[in-house]
Amino acid sequence: MANNDDLRALVRTIPDYPKPGIQFRDVSTLLLDGPAFRRTIDRMIALIDPDSFDLIAGIEARGFIVSAAMSYALEKGKVMLRKPGKLPGKSVYIDYALEYGTDRIEMHVDAIRPGQRVLLVDDLIATGGTAMAAVQLLRGQGAVVDRALFIVDLPDLGGAQKLAAAGVEATALMAFAGD
Ligand code: AMP
Repeated sequence: MANNDDLRALVRTIPDYPKPGIQFRDVSTLLLDGPAFRRTIDRMIALIDPDSFDLIAGIEARGFIVSAAMSYALEKGKVMLRKPGKLPGKSVYIDYALEYGTDRIEMHVDAIRPGQRVLLVDDLIATGGTAMAAVQLLRGQGAVVDRALFIVDLPDLGGAQKLAAAGVEATALMAFAGD
């Protein structure tokens, strides 16, 4: 289905989570459907040219599900952008603001060779704070980042525009407007 309505119908909305006023777009219900998950990954892959990047970066935790599946299908290596204190090797971090609260992501300093082209993936882009932090972290280690893929975009929160302003083209399979 070109408009991805079949997948959109599987994303559950939980109002007022994790705090009042937030419409939580819950992809766990999409992940429960195996064929739908496969279609999700296939359609994300169809949006990009596999020769245009060297590595896939996934953001913990739901981003790992997407990045692992894409990495397996495309035989691309993946970089883990992790929550604080999880990485055993020498790491760098960046702090950033979330739609609800603040957070930090970390990566190994030796994960990327300067000049490697990295595709960023996550389940959802809201304000874009997380993705922008990921772009800055990756670029700080010498990565070239100009493309990001998501299952869900919340366009009213401006994340994709924020990425575009930073030279990263963001694409999602579906959007939930009005959030
Ligand atoms: P942001 O940094 O605002 O773009 O938030 C993106 C991250 O927070 C993603 O990793 C999402 O999984 C999660 N997130 C933020 N807002 C929502 C929302 N309304 N529904 C579901 N997940 C969200």
